[in-house]
Amino acid sequence: MATIAGVAVDTGHWIGGERVSSAGTFTDVSPIDERPLAEVASGGAAEAEAAVAAAHRAFPAWARTSREERARLLHAIADGVEKRIEDLAQVETHDNGALIRSHRRGVMPRVAHNFRFFADWLLNLGHDDFETRGHTNHVSWDPAGVCALITPWNAPLMLATWKIAPALAAGNTVVLKPAEWTPLTASLLADITAEAGLPDGVFNVVQGYGAQVGGPLTAHPDVRRISFTGSVPTARTIAAAAAPNLTPLSLELGGKSPLLVFADADLDLAVDLAVEQYDNAGQVCLAATRLLVESSVADEFTARFIEKASRLKQGDPRDEATDIGPQVHRKHFERVDGFVRRAKADGASALLGGGPNDDLGGLFYRPTLFANPGAEIVSEEVFGPVLTLQTFDTEGQAVAMANETKFGLAATVATGSPERAERVTARLVAGTVWVNCFFVRDLRAPFGGSRQSGVGREGGDWSFDFYCDLKNTVTAP
Ligand code: NAD
Repeated sequence: MATIAGVAVDTGHWIGGERVSSAGTFTDVSPIDERPLAEVASGGAAEAEAAVAAAHRAFPAWARTSREERARLLHAIADGVEKRIEDLAQVETHDNGALIRSHRRGVMPRVAHNFRFFADWLLNLGHDDFETRGHTNHVSWDPAGVCALITPWNAPLMLATWKIAPALAAGNTVVLKPAEWTPLTASLLADITAEAGLPDGVFNVVQGYGAQVGGPLTAHPDVRRISFTGSVPTARTIAAAAAPNLTPLSLELGGKSPLLVFADADLDLAVDLAVEQYDNAGQVCLAATRLLVESSVADEFTARFIEKASRLKQGDPRDEATDIGPQVHRKHFERVDGFVRRAKADGASALLGGGPNDDLGGLFYRPTLFANPGAEIVSEEVFGPVLTLQTFDTEGQAVAMANETKFGLAATVATGSPERAERVTARLVAGTVWVNCFFVRDLRAPFGGSRQSGVGREGGDWSFDFYCDLKNTVTAP
């Protein structure tokens, strides 16, 4: 048990409706001051086995539970999240260093919304039967079984519940493996599900390092779905672990998304969109980290961008006035710094930032903008507050530069011309394209990445497609 900002957090696993400890623990450190926050149970093969067994046992009864009752329980979980928004916000901010103001007003309300949205979607799931030569084809959405959900640290509870809510709604049972740098809010969610009355074993949490507990979990033959959000190298490992069982995978991975700024754009809006890419201290998979700007407005755009970005207030994420907090972990900070050092050595010039924030020390990294970026910094995902600036002269060149990446998660287009927007978006390779906006998304729409940004889509019906075994029952007249 640990107490964080006055909130008691159980640091054991949550298996079959009980807290379970492990022989070993790992130390969870706060990025705000790099002090230890908690000693957390460190699971391995035994814990993965126990959690899958508990989920497997709980599955038949949960799968038979009526849609109405499942939806009611998901709404009860949402109620529980809403009652504890401040607790969840405090714990998450201490754990991953993201802004308390975002957690209070954006992220945690969205966590509750994830449960409500998929509960309501479940009640309307389905469509008319098909008729063939008098035979009725009736499609049913059968639950798949035990789902292993593996999540990253950059938006821990939001990304976890984006998977948990549809998986449970569909009648599956779940084993969640949160990231080892941010294990705590998953533990609070387990308390909330128990208080909401979710039957034992329907939702389970195993804590620990990826390879040690995530490895056996993803290789387990009783796991019927794996949904993973994280990096490309880990996705490859998980895909290999899943291969012998042919376990279906949903992979939401990294990106190196572009923001295309055309000369006909509202430049104030374009600058706002560009500065927004520093949100969450740059630790956002969707971030448009490559600024591609039409040459004729590049100087004006850059001057306004630097002016605006320089006013961002970096500091303690617990302060409501802070705009940029720390990087999540010393190892991640060093990774970001490595990219920046190599970019400079490669000839890139920092128009803004370009290194750690020495005034603040710790894990605070200055918002950075590079001109003349070299090959690595424009192609690899940094996952920190590091943007690059490149210019283009023609629309065709802009699209070619935007698509010149192994990723395909998102793209943003700033233009005053609807015709251009239509032409350009049709040619961009990306799971999500924003025109004159960023980050707004309807949960009914598909979400996912093309190329190495992922496999599959989640959201609305697409989530149920993934988390269900679809069955067609053909009945003779
Ligand atoms: P990561 O791949 O290192 O870890 C993600 C999760 O996988 C963690 O829980 C980790 O413990 C687990 N893991 C590691 N090795 C494993 C193994 N062998 N078997 C099973 N599980 C294992 O990623 P990260 O550093 O936590 O997250 C950052 C990455 O996530 C970035 O690439 C970012 O773009 C991506 N991301 C993508 C989205 C999206 O929706 N596309 C959203 C957020 C983050």
